[in-house]
Amino acid sequence: MSAPITIGEQAVQLAPRLGVAVFPADGDDAEALLRNAEAAQKQSKAALARFLYFSQELNARMAEKLELEQMLKRAIQEGQFVLYYQPKVDLRTGAIAGAEALIRWQHPERGMVPPDRFIPLAEETGLIVPIGDWVIRAVCAQQSAWRQAGGPVVPVALNLSALQFRQGNVLATLRSVLEEHALDPACVELELTESVVMQEPAIAQQTMLAFGALGLKLSLDDFGTGYSSLAYLKRFPFQYVKIDRAFITDVTSNPDDAAISMAIIAMAHSLRMRVIAEGVETAAQLQFLRARDCDYIQGYYFSRPVAAPAFHAMLASGQCLDLGVCGAGPAPTILVVDEATELRDSVQRALGNEGYRILQARSASEALTVLATESVQVVLSDRMVHKRDGRPLISIVARLYPDTIRIVLSGYAELQAALDALNRGEVYRFLTKPWDDQLLKHTVVDALRRHQSG
Ligand code: C2E
Ligand code: CA
Ligand code: CA
Repeated sequence: MSAPITIGEQAVQLAPRLGVAVFPADGDDAEALLRNAEAAQKQSKAALARFLYFSQELNARMAEKLELEQMLKRAIQEGQFVLYYQPKVDLRTGAIAGAEALIRWQHPERGMVPPDRFIPLAEETGLIVPIGDWVIRAVCAQQSAWRQAGGPVVPVALNLSALQFRQGNVLATLRSVLEEHALDPACVELELTESVVMQEPAIAQQTMLAFGALGLKLSLDDFGTGYSSLAYLKRFPFQYVKIDRAFITDVTSNPDDAAISMAIIAMAHSLRMRVIAEGVETAAQLQFLRARDCDYIQGYYFSRPVAAPAFHAMLASGQCLDLGVCGAGPAPTILVVDEATELRDSVQRALGNEGYRILQARSASEALTVLATESVQVVLSDRMVHKRDGRPLISIVARLYPDTIRIVLSGYAELQAALDALNRGEVYRFLTKPWDDQLLKHTVVDALRRHQSG
């Protein structure tokens, strides 16, 4: 049966699979035998086997699945689903910046069934399409109700499964439901995993561009568990990357997990995406992620997923993450050593609105006094020749405050002295005059990042 057949110009090859049932062990009559053979055949497909014998155990599993499938169908008809909302918190402000909608199945006898217990089967059977449609409608209806109730409304992200993304008419549904409720598309976001977009990348890209055109923001969910690189995934229009919980759990104790998380943050930022860490459960994880520039967190530490009224109450009461546990201290500080005000003014222009503390010293001694009394992370000097006891200021600072990051802006006249300092590791960057504000800004921001991660 596997031999190729030629139809017209096309060679076609069949891939037959057999299910085997044996009389009398697997059935007393033709009907029972055929039914069991068919069950074995279905299972052979899942097992990628060319043939499979029927077994009782296999039958039991099939029956269980079948029952669950029937129950799921009923659940869709009878509306047994409910959405929980888990807040996402902005790490700069501590405020709730959004939520993720997570489905639960309220089974009349079995109680609250978590999604891991039924989403895989729903995907296998295609039932995820109507379930996903329900989620879209429920999120929009909820957002509309919250908007009418007054008070703050934040974007709610919903999860799209692969089949839904490929087969369902998600875009059309979203468009019509948003219109029906006269909702701003900015109040709905979508979470997709890389496996969803990698199945048919070209088509996925089109669909995602259409989502973007509608005004929906997209998150790359569970990042780090698959095989793709962010650089590759950048060709899809994601605004957010979610670091998978698998890397967060031990982020403060496992150097590999820490390195991966930091790499994801750095890479995402350089590609202009924001980063959400999932599954943050402890103050230490929070502190670590905040110090490494992660943008948002989601996890039990701030809140578990909660029912809609509880989430609305959190928003209405302005519940915030206490960032005090982060030991934030004073803002990152930059010391500008500048006899005149040229460099200081330039720093003010480039970095004045970024939340940094900017101090100035007009001489080498003044600079050393400031360093002794203030906690300074970055020293910017407008030349090499601020000297004290014959030594360049930068060399002294490098000895006394090795943790500071030192940047020199200088003319070519001092090139040799600057190169010597650079080679001795006393200087992090050397910029030549005249400098440009943008370059200065990037150099200082990089320096601060480096300071925090070192
Ligand atoms: P997900 O998209 O990765 O959602 C995050 C899961 O992590 C949620 O599990 C959430 O309750 C859990 N979680 C959040 N913070 C913490 C934490 O600090 N510690 C721990 N241990 N867990 C945390 P949940 O609600 O059971 O959902 C599981 C998965 O089911 C979701 O993973 C998502 O893939 C899927 N799912 C949920 N709702 C939907 C939906 O409406 N549609 C589709 N297609 N899939 C859904
Ligand atoms: Ca998700
Ligand atoms: Ca996730």
